[in-house]
Amino acid sequence: MEQVSLMRRRLFAPSVMSLVVFLATAAALIASYAAPIRPWYPSGGNVVHLDQGSASVGSISEATTSAGPYAISIQITYSPRFSLPLWPVLLVTAVLPVLWMMREYRRRRGRRRTLNGLCAACGYSVTGNTSGTCPECGTPIPLGSDAGT
Ligand SMILES: [Zn+2]
Repeated sequence: MEQVSLMRRRLFAPSVMSLVVFLATAAALIASYAAPIRPWYPSGGNVVHLDQGSASVGSISEATTSAGPYAISIQITYSPRFSLPLWPVLLVTAVLPVLWMMREYRRRRGRRRTLNGLCAACGYSVTGNTSGTCPECGTPIPLGSDAGT
């Protein structure tokens, strides 16, 4: 039992971090479809660019500014160095939060079952059980709970 709760705690922080990356990636993915060309310039000559579900990093090879009658338009030519598809990132970062939620769901279900006099693992009624283990699946019944008394 203690090992299970330790594992849950060890999974929690990485799950939260994973979820943050997941949400940021989801936002970038939506932005990449909403406005295909959305470059920003983190440092000299480098361009980060979101386009149709992937993020790419490249360098500016040419930038020309032309003044029109109403606005100034900047034409940028850049050569991408690498491109990262965002869908796989979304998939990978979803694994830990989903695992954590599944574990949390099982823990809550187990606690609810124990409170109702049922086996935490399988849901079999263990009210009035004196053997200390579930007759259906063999899971030990925690002492001091309503179950098994
Ligand atoms: Zn059981």
